Amino acid sequence: MSGKTWLITGGAGFIGSNLAVRLLTAGASVRVLDDLSTGRREAIAQLTGLGGRRFRFIEGSLLDQPLLATACDGVDVAVNLAAQVSVPKSIEDPETTRRINVEGFRCLLAAVSQAKVGRVLFASSSAVYGDNPSIPLAETAQPRPLNPYAESKVCNERDAADFAARHPETPALGFRFFNVYGSGQSADGGYAAVIPAWMAALTTRRPPIVHGDGLQTRDFCHVDDVSDALHRAGHGTAAPSGLYNVASGRPLALLDLLALMSMLHEHASGRKAPQPQFQPPRAGDIRHSASDISKSRAMLGFTPTVSLKDGLSRLLAAVEDDNAVAKRQAIGL
Ligand code: NAD
Repeated sequence: MSGKTWLITGGAGFIGSNLAVRLLTAGASVRVLDDLSTGRREAIAQLTGLGGRRFRFIEGSLLDQPLLATACDGVDVAVNLAAQVSVPKSIEDPETTRRINVEGFRCLLAAVSQAKVGRVLFASSSAVYGDNPSIPLAETAQPRPLNPYAESKVCNERDAADFAARHPETPALGFRFFNVYGSGQSADGGYAAVIPAWMAALTTRRPPIVHGDGLQTRDFCHVDDVSDALHRAGHGTAAPSGLYNVASGRPLALLDLLALMSMLHEHASGRKAPQPQFQPPRAGDIRHSASDISKSRAMLGFTPTVSLKDGLSRLLAAVEDDNAVAKRQAIGL
């Protein structure tokens, strides 16, 4: 396992860079292919320092077939995480989302079969379930995509099933990630996920923005647990082709999440947390999301280990450290 070579597309991004750290720490060789459209150069610098000769960065696009052929050469496990990940952006520009997410994944599958890569893992999303009311959602629940981002993930799942049927020697496993959080997740702009956006607001004393009434539920999963699921799935003898939910299995209302984050912030800083500001619901947002993770438990041995309280406390400490460094830099210290 430790001697394997992994390719991670989108490895300069949030989940990909955390997975790369996990794999390099376990002794694997890792290649990252990323066009740095949202990925971070600092993540690449960190991985270079950690992996030395076991790490290689390939800067370029998932749509570049010759580059993918080089990237896949000699690879045991390919993980597709590169994507246009924003739901609002996918509504504004569905064609760009389709090209990157759907065409890009098809390019990777073609390169994987050419290079005889042993196994493909790819990011799908809980967004494929849309407003399916069969909560908690098991992999057998019917997809009901509500936006072009979710539709692109449904296409990925179909393409992977088709690929696995034509190439039974190369298992293709799709992961329906629910709301992933942890270090390295962007808090920038209006498209940020709720935890980094609220963490940034609380630590800079701005009101956290709540879209809608805050009673919508989400299933948050720490990125270390996500990396663990992918690491397990890379075993040659591991689970077969198919779709796997990756989540904590413990849904929470957003207002309860905010109360927990505010409490942790107040405890750590000794300052009262700012009150939230309510805004209208966002287009394409779903009301409830909760996962049944029994298939991943049974087939991958996946067991989430990071509690929300611990994960948020760690993240809060990291964000406070980053803010302190930024403040020192701003005053020239
Ligand atoms: P991210 O935006 O941090 O990472 C995506 C990476 O892909 C970035 O580094 C970006 O530069 C790269 N990229 C984008 N287009 C590219 C292209 N054409 N060629 C090469 N690289 C390209 O996102 P993330 O949160 O790490 O998500 C990783 C995957 O997991 C995505 O497929 C996303 O849809 C899926 N996912 C994430 C979550 C979550 O909560 N973070 C939930 C469900 C699904």
